[in-house]
Amino acid sequence: MSNESTKPDQQSPTLHSQAEERLALTPAPPSPSVEELLHELRVHQIELEMQNEELQRARTALEASHNRYLNLYEFAPVGYFTLTPEGEIIETNLTAAALLGVERDNLLNRYFTSWVASEDCDRWYLLIKSVLQHQGEQKNFELRLKRGDSFFYGRLDCLLIMTDDQATTLRITLTDITESKRAEEELRIASVAFEAQEGIMITNADKVILRVNRAFSEITGYSLEELVGQTPYLFSSGRHNAAFYSRMWECINRTGSWHGEIWDQRKNGEIFPKWVTITAVKDKDGVVTHYVGLHTDISERKASEEEIKQLAYYDPLTALPNRRLLLDRLQQALAASARSEKYGALLFIDLDNFKALNDNLGHDMGDILLQQAAQRLMACVREGDTVSRQGGDEFVIMLEELSEDSDEAATKAKTIGEKIIGSLNQAYQLTCHEYQNTPSIGITLFVNHRHTIRALLKRADIAMYEAKAAGRNTLRFFDQDMQKAVMARATLEADLRSALAKNQFELYFQRQARHDGQVIGAEALLRWEHPERGLVLPLEFISLAEEIGLIVPIGQWVLENACAQLKRWEGHAQTRNLQLAVNVSPRQFHQPDFTEQVRAMLKKAAIKGDRLKLEFTENLVFEDIDDTIAKMKILKKISVSFSMDDFGTGYSSLAYLTQLPLDQLKIDQSFIHNLGLKPTDAVIVQTIIGMAKNLGMEVIAEGVETEEQRVFLEQHSCPLYQGYLFSEPVPLAEFEHSLGI
Ligand code: C2E
Ligand code: MG
Ligand code: MG
Repeated sequence: MSNESTKPDQQSPTLHSQAEERLALTPAPPSPSVEELLHELRVHQIELEMQNEELQRARTALEASHNRYLNLYEFAPVGYFTLTPEGEIIETNLTAAALLGVERDNLLNRYFTSWVASEDCDRWYLLIKSVLQHQGEQKNFELRLKRGDSFFYGRLDCLLIMTDDQATTLRITLTDITESKRAEEELRIASVAFEAQEGIMITNADKVILRVNRAFSEITGYSLEELVGQTPYLFSSGRHNAAFYSRMWECINRTGSWHGEIWDQRKNGEIFPKWVTITAVKDKDGVVTHYVGLHTDISERKASEEEIKQLAYYDPLTALPNRRLLLDRLQQALAASARSEKYGALLFIDLDNFKALNDNLGHDMGDILLQQAAQRLMACVREGDTVSRQGGDEFVIMLEELSEDSDEAATKAKTIGEKIIGSLNQAYQLTCHEYQNTPSIGITLFVNHRHTIRALLKRADIAMYEAKAAGRNTLRFFDQDMQKAVMARATLEADLRSALAKNQFELYFQRQARHDGQVIGAEALLRWEHPERGLVLPLEFISLAEEIGLIVPIGQWVLENACAQLKRWEGHAQTRNLQLAVNVSPRQFHQPDFTEQVRAMLKKAAIKGDRLKLEFTENLVFEDIDDTIAKMKILKKISVSFSMDDFGTGYSSLAYLTQLPLDQLKIDQSFIHNLGLKPTDAVIVQTIIGMAKNLGMEVIAEGVETEEQRVFLEQHSCPLYQGYLFSEPVPLAEFEHSLGI
């Protein structure tokens, strides 16, 4: 039991003694009679009884008050402690024991420090010290206190008092403030979070703005004061329609939140994009009380996205869409055409001889021309059409929604194509140069998803090549025959590329003879033994091989085999003196190291050059006359001889003919074929024979098929013959057999 509990009891005897004192001080009456005495005694007795009753009532009231006080004390919402100046607990209430999580008996005579968290012990000593120094002054402080294995925040109000017996004690009340501490902490975190980088706006359920943070003010340009009481519609940029906002609110109402990109307007009128997350705050009954919006200004990110997009989808030189963007748009156009069933068109535009401009005036001028061409192309089409640059001097234009009727669509595309040709034919002003250029245009129509994007571009490309082949500065529409030719060419090309490695080439030999049939040599003619197509003649693949550069390794193979053959023929009397004529293509001949290659091959075969004859056509000479003469001279030094093949078909000019160290003219077979049919050709044949003689050259007629042709040639002194009349080109074994080997 607490010491305090004895206090009310001490007052009880004091009241009693006062009553007795009062009784003792009553004056004695003068000789009263017995009756009087008895009466008085009776009166006193009654008074005494009344006083006793009063006393009893007072005592009862006092006990009730004491009990009330006790209850209040024990179960007060705060804990009470009385401590010695050393901190020993000498008295506490039940609440205090409950707060520290122990029985009251386990608190008494223990030191309060035992319940102070170790981190706060130093502070506790300092605080007690300061309380002890300031008697009568109430001090309060917060400490972390132990409760079992956990901690709680306690607020301590301390007062130093003197008891009646002059002892110094500390009176302490303890309040658990953990909850308010936590709330305070949360508030602190919330306020830090609220002032974060992101803009935050809080509205009530009616979307009236209650609060915004500093970041929000910075983003929008409005101060807090300007915004409170307003609604977010203040920021409306007009970029989104009512349906957009109603979808947004529908989502918030349904799911409790929404996020997405919104274009808003700042106070200065600038429209900008922001990323917004809106969350509905609900009370415990699920009723929305507030909306909290997080707003991030993404205008910078957007700008860099735009820049990246520009780089990724646009050609830096002309600012036109690049191939990637065209493919994208083409995809969309196909989908749109599937819906509308309207034809569109792809125009593949290639500038003619653009390389020459780059080579002659430099790439800077080339760039200027491309930029101007891009401008002109843009001016030729409608706004919704796409003009793209594919790279180099190639542009592709996509025209959409031309017509449901393919003929009409083609007519419209043709009109635009012609407009483009007209526009690109105008002279370009390239700084100080005036420059003329023309385009070749390939057109293909598209509708629905009938063809893939790749196929469509390929078709336009094929048609463009047809336009080039047709003499340039013109347009061509794609058709199926073009497609077939291209497909066949593609297959042939693929097969040709592997033919050398697969050893599919063979040399045939066609004899060259005098008028009496004596064989003086042969022409080596290439044959391709194709696994599926059988024997393929050179006319079918030589020009393709030339175009794709394969003629160089193929030509080397022919020369190498021809040299090896000449070497083997040395071993037989019938073949020892035979000349072997080998056809050389322009690309092969103009290889910088061609003469070296020939020299090396002769060396490898261990033969001299005197039995090797190189045949070439006039085209080869025209490509580079100086190079031709120089190389011929070098090769002539090692006794290699030269024959001008298909003579008479090209732009033969006496001027160059005299400059070339030629050994032989080979009259083209078309003239021989026409002997007896076309008198002028007979004259040409005679003229060539006479000219060769005068220039000191040999002359040979090729394609001699009939005895009449042979007789005519013989009569006109043609010394050498080649043709089916003598022999067709045949495989080596057959050729050698015919010579008796
Ligand atoms: P070319 O050099 O003018 O060869 C003569 C062509 O006429 C050969 O055709 C030959 O078979 C053919 N011919 C020969 N006699 C007659 C005849 O009496 N009547 C007719 N109608 N034709 C006759 P081929 O073998 O098909 O060669 C065609 C062309 O292919 C050659 O014309 C030559 O320009 C080229 N060529 C052949 N082999 C090679 C080669 O190894 N390298 C290169 N670069 N071109 C070659
Ligand atoms: Mg030939
Ligand atoms: Mg020929």
